[in-house]
Amino acid sequence: MRIPFLAANWKMCKTVQEAFVYAREFTRLVKDVGDVEIVLAAPFTALHTVAEATRNTNVGVAGQNLHFEREGAFTGEISGMMLKEAGAEYVIVGHSERRTLFGETDAMVSKKIAAALAANLTPIACIGETLDERERGETFAVLDRQIRDGLVPSVPLTAAPALVVAYEPVWAIGTGRTATTAQAQEAHAHVRRRLREAYGEEAASRCRIIYGGSVKPGNVRELVTQPDVDGGLVGGASLDVNAFAEIVAKSRPEAV
Ligand code: PEP
Repeated sequence: MRIPFLAANWKMCKTVQEAFVYAREFTRLVKDVGDVEIVLAAPFTALHTVAEATRNTNVGVAGQNLHFEREGAFTGEISGMMLKEAGAEYVIVGHSERRTLFGETDAMVSKKIAAALAANLTPIACIGETLDERERGETFAVLDRQIRDGLVPSVPLTAAPALVVAYEPVWAIGTGRTATTAQAQEAHAHVRRRLREAYGEEAASRCRIIYGGSVKPGNVRELVTQPDVDGGLVGGASLDVNAFAEIVAKSRPEAV
């Protein structure tokens, strides 16, 4: 059985002080949750503080991006090694905001995934179609391209089972519009099919495929009870500590 995976993506929100207060309260709220893998993706400036505040707890820490080079003249960038040293164990790669606002291509995403793995970070690899692409009937073709060009070239078979893939329909991110459970399950099953083709049944059945796009306490349960939806990547609703703790509680295998 796959352990549900829930990640908060704070994006460019929370000062160091706000992140500290959140992390301290959040670890208290979820301290008895042993059956969900929980991660806070904090801004770079707050990573170390959140890592310290969650040390020896059931809450992990993620960066929201990394550069694919190890070091050098890349002003404003952060390497995998730096994230790791700050206390991160995971990193979000290829978020749609990175792709649309900062021009990240599948080739760059692939290099970033390779850099994350080289730094011993678990990549949370984001894929998903825009509204135009969905309306043109291209959803599966877009996912296929993102998996073929962005993921498979940099993920060896040995790393595949631990990979986390976030299916995030771009039209559902920050819009309040959630994919229906049928749309989410259909896309997740498709992604798992492609992972099975690339890595075989064993790896594909262990890989977590999580859903992102306006996940809230009120809709998370119906999403995570779909057979191929293994958790969520939560933006807006994760900024409120009680809301994210409730989302985690509702993602537990035995939750009602
Ligand atoms: C995200 O940032 O990945 C996301 C899914 O945001 P939201 O939950 O706000 O739609």
